[in-house]
Amino acid sequence: IVVAASVTKQFGPLKALNKVSLSVLPGAVQCIIGPSGSGKSTLLRCINQLEKIDAGAITVAGELIGYRRVGNELHELSDTEIARQRLKTGMVFQRFNLFNHMTVLQNIIEGPLTVLKRPRREIVAEAMALLDRVGLAEKRDSYPIELSGGQQQRIAIARALAMKPQVMLFDEPTSALDPELVGEVLNVMRDLAASGMTMIVVTHELGFAREVASDVVFMDKGEIVEQGPPQQVLVAPSQARTRDFIAAVL
Ligand code: ATP
Ligand code: MG
Repeated sequence: IVVAASVTKQFGPLKALNKVSLSVLPGAVQCIIGPSGSGKSTLLRCINQLEKIDAGAITVAGELIGYRRVGNELHELSDTEIARQRLKTGMVFQRFNLFNHMTVLQNIIEGPLTVLKRPRREIVAEAMALLDRVGLAEKRDSYPIELSGGQQQRIAIARALAMKPQVMLFDEPTSALDPELVGEVLNVMRDLAASGMTMIVVTHELGFAREVASDVVFMDKGEIVEQGPPQQVLVAPSQARTRDFIAAVL
């Protein structure tokens, strides 16, 4: 459902992504691990079009993103078209990025209401179902500041889901949390995976990756060093760099 083909992204002379190719099938949970600066966030940001790629191509749900093919040429899409494509992906960041002046319920219905322009009654009902799903129905009228980090992150997940994305992208969703709050967020992600959602998850939670991932990629210096099922990459890696990284994280 998400295909990256030889994607390169440079920041000046630095190749943050160097010919990265990756295919994520519908319903798969693709985990991405790797040291700081290896390009994990950049890859998610390219898929979500927060960054423009310099070479290669990315398709999401069969649609080339950022460009339209006209004959042999690629034409850049307009901002409106990019915004439309971005709706296919829901992104959850390390920091929760909730709207602090809005209640929990307002946070969740804001996108469907203003962007999708759907009827309020319908989306409030859906938002309540989502809040129930993340275990926070009773917090509908609270403000983000009144919630714990783990609760805020669960709301951020519900808010992304409210837009009915085809893929969910998670960029270290638990690494800003106190240790005792990590589990509740991983549980929501585990349920989401079990429900069949396609997910790309950048994480240092190797236990979660081992249990939930359909496939794990280890990145270093802008390249995919090793890829395979979690039992292989996390338990019996073939590359020394992967082994060293896993030993350092555990
Ligand atoms: P971390 O685990 O610390 O989040 P990461 O694997 O997510 O690391 P990226 O954030 O993707 O790494 O960064 C990859 C490289 O690109 C790094 O060397 C980083 O400094 C560089 N980089 C990322 N964003 C920018 C930017 N906007 N401008 C310049 N360099 C950038
Ligand atoms: Mg990052």
